[in-house]
Amino acid sequence: MSMKTIAVIDCLKNNRFSREPLFGGHSAERLCADAVVSALRLGKIDGSVVRLAAAPEAAGADGIRTVAVSATDAGGYFEALTKITEGYDVALRICGDAPFINPDLILGTIKEHTETAADFTYGEGFPLGLCPEAIETDLLPILAELNRNAPLPHRSLFPYFEKQINDYDIAVVIAPQDSRRLRLSLFADSFRRLTLLTRLAAASNGAVTPSFIAENEKLLLVPPAFYPIQIVDARVQTPIYVPQALSAEAGSGAEMSVESLRLLLRRAEEVSGSFVVSLSMNCDPVCHSRFFEAAQAALESKASAVLIETAGLRWDAERAEALTAAAAGRLIWIVLLDAGTEEDYRKLRGEGFAEASAFAARMTVAFPKSVYVQAHRLKGYESAADAFYRVWKPKTDRLIIQKHDSFCGLVPEMKAVDLSPLKRFPCHHLKRELPILFDGTVPMCSEDLNRTVLRGNALTDDWQTLFASVLRQYEEQVDGKYNGICGGCDEYYTFNF
Ligand code: SF4
Repeated sequence: MSMKTIAVIDCLKNNRFSREPLFGGHSAERLCADAVVSALRLGKIDGSVVRLAAAPEAAGADGIRTVAVSATDAGGYFEALTKITEGYDVALRICGDAPFINPDLILGTIKEHTETAADFTYGEGFPLGLCPEAIETDLLPILAELNRNAPLPHRSLFPYFEKQINDYDIAVVIAPQDSRRLRLSLFADSFRRLTLLTRLAAASNGAVTPSFIAENEKLLLVPPAFYPIQIVDARVQTPIYVPQALSAEAGSGAEMSVESLRLLLRRAEEVSGSFVVSLSMNCDPVCHSRFFEAAQAALESKASAVLIETAGLRWDAERAEALTAAAAGRLIWIVLLDAGTEEDYRKLRGEGFAEASAFAARMTVAFPKSVYVQAHRLKGYESAADAFYRVWKPKTDRLIIQKHDSFCGLVPEMKAVDLSPLKRFPCHHLKRELPILFDGTVPMCSEDLNRTVLRGNALTDDWQTLFASVLRQYEEQVDGKYNGICGGCDEYYTFNF
């Protein structure tokens, strides 16, 4: 029996990047719509295409019927979809800023969905943005009822099934090669992603497929997403698990000026568009004499989030609260506690348990979504992490349990469990971060305390020189060459932003 199918191109959350030229003068929105229309035509699918847009005037110049949807929650969204898809058996949902939505995967998803008589079908192991999702239309009114006040869908409908996964028949289109480790989102929704999509489209002559990506990993390096910045060369404590170079005693106290920080952030905006910045690379930012001005400068930049990692000591808590309140969710705190009891704390971090715990508790109560507390799970000290969990779990769900970082062997390994992948792959930090020390020096990464590789100076050098150095090393790693300290590194698979 042939199933009547409607392809729903969801443009509700598209931003300006989806409308900028990407390939052959066409935008991501246009490429996406063309791919969907041609897939249905090629597959002789009995159905039609509709576009969801936030504004009623956004009629498609390509002849695709455009429907304005003004839902404010998932319930309203599914209700609108129920009406739009009336008379069809299956709705294929595609994000409208996915220029490389793959015609073969569109047809493959319809086939899998139909043959397995599934309620919902999605792709697994593909870069995001290549494979659509399919849903039985008679489920839509049920989802509308179940999701009143739930957030509107964005990339995937899967979260709406996840909660009661056993109640549904779910089918999966499996990628021949699992590319999840690449963490690729092929949506035109930011400057960085548009840069990548444009490069991939040009290199493939518009035919970006899963196999093209697998064979061209060297093309995947884009401007940094995360800037860890050392605003001061100082720490307030010496935890037992850090190298001597990161002890409180080793800090020179030298500071990055707020003016230099502003300059760096302007350059970061130019090359990355938006990004996340940390003011805590290998330091405790509380030690900076003008910390609040520095944080203010970061908040005035285009950073989507500003990260402060701290021991939680010596803070003017009132000013910290005022700054966090004014940041409206963009300032994220991570308080490094490592222990739930004074005894454990003293063993692991030294003095200051009561002050650090009180600061973390106060900030957690005031800003439950913006404040994290962190502990390391260390060999020989597992009970400290357990006690930390017992104390903090009732107070917040923002808990981070970190593995030990030996800084490529600078300190003896204290990892309690081995989470490293079986097969080595290019480093996430190399690919996504540009670390900058207090004087503008760009080391290879936060691990490289002995500065075995220096890329240049971010305050005085052309950033293209810095990126050329990153690219050389990234290409080596794609070729399986892990030179220098990278060879013994256990951080390459950890992911920040
Ligand atoms: S592999 Fe390790 S040492 Fe090399 S760049 Fe990545 S984090 Fe740094």
